[in-house]
Formats: sequence, structure tokens, C-alpha cells
Amino acid sequence: MTETTRTRVAIIGAGPAGLLLSHLLAEAGIDSIVIDQRTRDEIEHTIRAGILEQGTVEVLRESGASDRVLTVGSRHEGIELRFAGEGHRIDFESLVGRSVWLYPQHEVLKDLIAARIAAGQDLRFGVTATRVDGAGTDRPSIVATDAGGREFVIEAEFVVGADGSRSVARAAVTGSATGGYFREYPFAWFGILCEAPPSSDELIYSNSPDGFALISQRSATIQRMYLQCDPELDPNSMSDRQIWDDLQSRVDGHTLIEGPIFQRDVLRFRSFVAHELLRGRVALIGDAAHTVPPTGAKGMNLAVADVVLLDRALRALLLDDDSRLLEAFPETALRRIWKAQHFSWWMTSMLHSTPDASDFDRLRQLGELRSVVESEAGSRYLAEAYTGWPLAGR
Ligand SMILES: Cc1cc2nc3c(=O)[nH]c(=O)nc-3n(C[C@H](O)[C@H](O)[C@H](O)COP(=O)(O)OP(=O)(O)OC[C@H]3O[C@@H](n4cnc5c(N)ncnc54)[C@H](O)[C@@H]3O)c2cc1C
Repeated sequence: MTETTRTRVAIIGAGPAGLLLSHLLAEAGIDSIVIDQRTRDEIEHTIRAGILEQGTVEVLRESGASDRVLTVGSRHEGIELRFAGEGHRIDFESLVGRSVWLYPQHEVLKDLIAARIAAGQDLRFGVTATRVDGAGTDRPSIVATDAGGREFVIEAEFVVGADGSRSVARAAVTGSATGGYFREYPFAWFGILCEAPPSSDELIYSNSPDGFALISQRSATIQRMYLQCDPELDPNSMSDRQIWDDLQSRVDGHTLIEGPIFQRDVLRFRSFVAHELLRGRVALIGDAAHTVPPTGAKGMNLAVADVVLLDRALRALLLDDDSRLLEAFPETALRRIWKAQHFSWWMTSMLHSTPDASDFDRLRQLGELRSVVESEAGSRYLAEAYTGWPLAGR
């Protein structure tokens, strides 16, 4: 017979969205179970996002989830936009009085996992959700299999799909696994990790005739850099020398510090927003609800913004039997999601070259970049969006 476990909130996905939601709900005394198909080790060692908005850092710190973001992470008060052989600093502090923090996503996950385990919360690795049932009832459930292949059911008062871009929960909310607004891009990022000191104190976003490059940092000894590439590129097809020459040519006028490359990956670009975020007592948050191209550094931050909203809505529903915030959740969340979609698309299209770009397109793009760096209003919009709009209730 299939075993059934009961909890108040059942969450699929121990990424930033699922773990943070569980952490915030526990603060209000609401129990949850979080399941993830991956092992703890895999989750804690997958390199992904690196830039945290100021609001994200405040949520992590004030909820007690992470103080390390302030001690191990580094505060960045601006970025450089580079084009036509010159760098232009966008000074976040002077433009909007806000900053971002460089603190890798897997460090956020280590902090959240440690906090969940220290609080004795139910966090299960190696458990795969196969479907969500009963969205329209007051007892929705997750059907899952454990590492040994045994099927079991988690029945809850509310189910949350925080299961990333290949969400299985999405079908229960939108009626199909892919139901949403979608856009693909004709390029990808070739990302490397290398052993070298930082080539720059702040991130450099560079538009060049050969394509986009991003010079970013990880620590005093490890750096993360990206090159625009063909989505079909085999990451092992380029030699280290070719990678460094390509990177260097794309940040013309700024000398890079080279070092051994020890990780390579190709990251495809997509924009996606699910048609619905809520059905009955099942909600989607984070990448399950939306995906953005990484140029605006919005993915993880948008997941945190969803969590802040859903946490408040679930507290009202489960502690006060008040469903108004939950009913408003999709519309409120979507306002920010579409602003972030626009910002991510805009940064992407302004900084990358498309395979079919004409001379007109290329010169227009330079005009657009000049409109940003030579206008305080243009620079302020970039600074405001990059550092993040205020989070609900803050
Ligand atoms: C290379 C790269 C760079 C990025 N840079 C940035 C950046 O600088 N700033 C930023 O804000 N964002 C960035 N992002 C995006 C960011 O990493 C994601 O938006 C973020 O991880 C979303 O969090 P999430 O919790 O919604 O989903 P995820 O982190 O994808 O977590 C979902 C979890 O669900 C689990 N899962 C999936 N299906 C199932 C299932 N059926 N059963 C059980 N578990 C399941 C997965 O194993 C996973 O652990 C980047 C992404 C990449 C790939």
C-alpha cells in the first residue's frame, strides 16, 4: 500500500525558492516538507547565479537564513558597460542609493539547507515528484518516488511547485507541462571558471563586434567569465588559448588576468512565463513560474520576490483563514515578473549581436548604449532595475 505523509505545506524543489519559502513559513510556525530529486552534495556544488539584489540580501539576513552573505559575499556598488573600446561605469550608489552582492547561489543554498536541518525541518533529498493531484480540493497532494523507487504521497493544505524550469507541478496549474509565454534566443553563453585573481573589481558587461562578454568574479582566486556563443557549441571544442583570445578581444582596452580553466558549460537563453501561477491550492514560484535570460541577473532574485509574496499569502490563509492575499498573488507577482522579463530581454538585446544583424542594427545598438551611459535618466533606470525594485511589504 502507498504510504501517505501529511504536512501543512508540501514543496517540490530545494532550490532557492523552495528552501527559502520553507524557512520563512517555519518562522511563522507553519510546518512544511521539501523534497528534491538531487542529492545534497549536487545541490550544494552546482554553479549558477551570483548576483543578489539588495532586497534579496535583506530577506536572507533578516530571516536569519544567512549572515555569511555579508561576510563572505562582496558588495558591488556599480557595473561597467563596455562598448567601442571604452568602459562606462554605472554607479548604483550615486544613482539610486542601492547595491548588489556577489554571493554564489550554491552558498545561499548551503546556508538555507543548514538552517533547515538545524531547525529539524523535513527536507528530503533524492526524492522525485511525479505529479501533483487535487489542485482544486483543500487536500492537494504530491505523488513522489524515493531513492529506492518506492512511491509515496505527501498530502498537504497547500502544494508549491518550486521545481525549476522543467517543473512537473506546472501541469497541475496550467493544464500542461509547457503552458506559458515563451521566447528563445539565437545565442547562448559559454561560461568558464578559472583559477586567477579578479580581472576587475566590478562586473564588466561588454558589447563588441565579435559578440558579448561578461567578466565576473567569484573569489580572490576563482573567476567566472562568459562569452556569447552558438547554442550548439560543444564546450570542449575550444582550446584554453582560443577562449582567452576571444574573451580578450571582446573587452578591448581592458587587460584580463588569465589562469587555468577548470569548468566549462553552455547556457541556453530562454524567456518564459507560465500562463497561470495558481490553481486552487497549488502555486508555482521561481523558475517553475518563469525563466529569464541571465543577462539581467534576475532569476534567483525573482524567485525570492515570489517567495516573499507567497509566504505572506500562506500565513494569512493558514493562520487566519484569510484567502485575499493568495487570490491577489498571481496578479501582484506578475507585475514584477514582467518588469524583470522586460529588463532581462532589454539587457540581452542591447548587449548581444544576433547572427542576422545588419550594419544598421549594430550602429543602432551603439546609439542605444550611448543613450544609457550619457543620460542620467537612462543610467538610473538600469541601476534601479539591476539592484531590484522594492519587495512587497518592505
Ligand atoms: C549559469 C547561470 C547563471 C545564472 N546567474 C544568475 C544571476 O546572476 N542572478 C540571478 O538572480 N539568477 C541567475 N541565474 C538563474 C537562477 O540560478 C535561477 O533563476 C534559480 O536557480 C531559480 O531558483 P528556483 O528555486 O526557482 O529553481 P532551481 O534552482 O532550478 O531549483 C529547483 C529544484 O527543484 C528540483 N526538482 C526539479 N524537478 C523535480 C522533481 N520532479 N522532483 C523533485 N525535485 C525536483 C531540482 O533538482 C532543483 O534543485 C542563473 C542561472 C544559470 C543557469
